[in-house]
Amino acid sequence: MTMGDHYQSLSFVDVTAEQAPAIADSAIAHLVGRGIVAAERTHCVLSNDTGHAPGPHYALALANTEDAANDDLRELSACGVGVDLERHVAVGWNDSVTCPHCGWSDPLEEPDGEMRPIWERVSDALSDWWDGGSGEMPCPSCGKAVRLNDWQGDFQATWAVSHLTLTFWNWPLLAEAFVEDLGRTLAYRVRHTGRKL
Ligand SMILES: [Zn+2]
Repeated sequence: MTMGDHYQSLSFVDVTAEQAPAIADSAIAHLVGRGIVAAERTHCVLSNDTGHAPGPHYALALANTEDAANDDLRELSACGVGVDLERHVAVGWNDSVTCPHCGWSDPLEEPDGEMRPIWERVSDALSDWWDGGSGEMPCPSCGKAVRLNDWQGDFQATWAVSHLTLTFWNWPLLAEAFVEDLGRTLAYRVRHTGRKL
């Protein structure tokens, strides 16, 4: 690991544990077909695991295609896409939460960077899901149960829970259109998170 490694995750949030291996194969086949990743698995991710290195057209997945022209991602040791088929909690940006039922909304973080009390509830619900729980958190305002993946928008979300996660190591910001297209192609909602290590 080098200083400043970062990653973005794409979580297929409605895929069950049973469906995950087949959907993962379809996702990778789609990305290989577009030249975004290589078909073979090599040591190109930050772990002892293997992943798919960026393909010749990986810039198609990026929000700013110039990012690929300025710095070739393929020169980094961690530059691939890992496939995680385990129960996984991905974390990312700190945005606000909004209840889809009543519209109650609260930022996760104070202006000084301190996490607000709602984060503790989120954090408990994430731990509960990790332990095999339902993945729901009741709204503090209307009391309705809201699934963890429904508290925020899908792009640049703060967290995602899923049984199938693709992790893009050190890729510049992915394009929202790319993320949506992948979801449409596979007919599963895809949630995008990211974080610097
Ligand atoms: Zn509510």
